[in-house]
Amino acid sequence: MINTLLEGNKRFVRDHFEKEKEYYNSLVKDQRPTVLWIGCSDSRVAVNTITNTRPGEVFVHRNVGNIVAANDWNLSAVLEFSINHLHIPDIVVCGHYGCGGMAALDDENTEDKYIPIWLISASKARDRVDEKIRALRIDIPAEQRMKLIVEENVRLQLEHLQEYPFVKKSLMDKKLKLHGWVYDMANGEIKILETERPCS
Ligand SMILES: [Zn+2]
Repeated sequence: MINTLLEGNKRFVRDHFEKEKEYYNSLVKDQRPTVLWIGCSDSRVAVNTITNTRPGEVFVHRNVGNIVAANDWNLSAVLEFSINHLHIPDIVVCGHYGCGGMAALDDENTEDKYIPIWLISASKARDRVDEKIRALRIDIPAEQRMKLIVEENVRLQLEHLQEYPFVKKSLMDKKLKLHGWVYDMANGEIKILETERPCS
């Protein structure tokens, strides 16, 4: 598999880099992405492929479950760089149906050490959905419940984003917009959940 990647790189140089040399050379000087993408690490949610974008267009942060966790210095640095240095005007939190991270929220007997700790920052999404289902006294299929959790997790992480004072300030100054999306692997489409989320 590793060789496949290296052979793929040769094809990339031959078929794309050489043909669009001017574009790629312009990227050597600097980058001017206009979107910060916070998505899941899942291999099936390949940002540039599903958004049909090129290198240089999207600044990317990915982790298990597209989570915006408190005390995540990795994401904190990405946010600070995106907003204060790259002046990116749009942040997308994109979840995806069929997310293993969200499914793991129900995994109470796991022997994993780190995944459950990481998922604490998403557990409220599951609790909110379960509470709603209980309140409505309805039975919904497990797959539908999981889709609702994926969607609620995107909303929850948009809330977490606004807990960063400099994110909040950029939103209030109207220099930044937040967007909540979900990618559907079954049809390749992105569903818009929240757009231009107002300050709360
Ligand atoms: Zn996922």
